[in-house]
Amino acid sequence: MSGPEPREDHRICVCVRKRPLNQRETTMKDLDIITIPSDNVVMVHESKQKVDLTRYLDNQTFCFDHAFDDTASNELVYQFTAQPLVESIFRNGMATCFAYGQTGSGKTHTMGGAFSRDGQDCSKGIYAMVARDVFLLLKTSAYEKLDLQVYGTFFEIYGGKVYDLLNWKRKLQVLEDGNQQIQVVGLQEQEVCCVEDMLTLVEQGNSCRTSGQTSVNTHSSRSHAVFQIILRSRGKLHGKFSLVDLAGNERGADTAKANRRRQLEGAEINKSLLALKECIRALGQNKSHTPFRGSKLTQVLRDSFIGRNSSTCMIATISPGMASCENTLNTLRYANRVKEL
Ligand code: ADP
Ligand code: MG
Repeated sequence: MSGPEPREDHRICVCVRKRPLNQRETTMKDLDIITIPSDNVVMVHESKQKVDLTRYLDNQTFCFDHAFDDTASNELVYQFTAQPLVESIFRNGMATCFAYGQTGSGKTHTMGGAFSRDGQDCSKGIYAMVARDVFLLLKTSAYEKLDLQVYGTFFEIYGGKVYDLLNWKRKLQVLEDGNQQIQVVGLQEQEVCCVEDMLTLVEQGNSCRTSGQTSVNTHSSRSHAVFQIILRSRGKLHGKFSLVDLAGNERGADTAKANRRRQLEGAEINKSLLALKECIRALGQNKSHTPFRGSKLTQVLRDSFIGRNSSTCMIATISPGMASCENTLNTLRYANRVKEL
């Protein structure tokens, strides 16, 4: 691989990934308005009209820790985002990786929400690659002696409620004890002994996530999915990697056309994404106060936002088309804000 090496000193790393134009967009003659002129710059070329009706391009530039164009593989994206954090969980760390963006922009493709083990490796997403590297590290001489056990959890947050994807979407209570410890009561934490077992668990959760859905734009795009790989030493928490496929950030649910349920969904998603931004910023600024109570999402991830040994990466996924311009700009502005200290 050419180019710079992934950085390891980052507590917060914010990257952007552009997906290719899809068939539907090509058929509708949508234009690709995104360029990635260098490996950390994203440009949006928005076509606008003056009062005299002449058209011009409004070019906006954004800088990130890394920018991936539509030729980047999941493996490359992984190398610059989640992979540098994997080892930290063997050193009592808490790592988190978020996929953020509008529905259809490539969050689940990146994270690996749907992959088949019969397929080629290239279809694997970040879930599978973290699992692979955790089991590789587990067998190295440095960590073998720690005698660690590996567990997986997989749950969904929808409308401020938590549902267990490893237990038929059972609704779970989130409780905070006197020491501000957050507990998701009854969450299935399954022990796994090899990467194959972990992938089976991911498949199980994925099929539970999408079961009963009639179209792509339903429930799963309006919920946050959280997959966690947990290391324990004689039962005691040693480290944790949380991989979060966030709900679509698109606006529009607050228009008059949307029904009440959509409006409530949209409001809840907005609230949680705002709270998330504030919590990641607090982590980056080393603030003693983390506003994790702002949403269920930040509440259940509380232990990943506090502590000196926490690190986070965000992959903001964007659609290339003109038709998605407004959502794309919103995604880039949000990601920019997360990274800004
Ligand atoms: P989201 O989870 O953000 O709603 P998906 O990951 O489901 O979006 O992606 C929508 C569609 O675009 C899927 O068919 C997916 O395979 C495709 N896609 C997304 N990102 C890429 C990419 N980087 N390269 C090729 N296809 C992609
Ligand atoms: Mg998705």
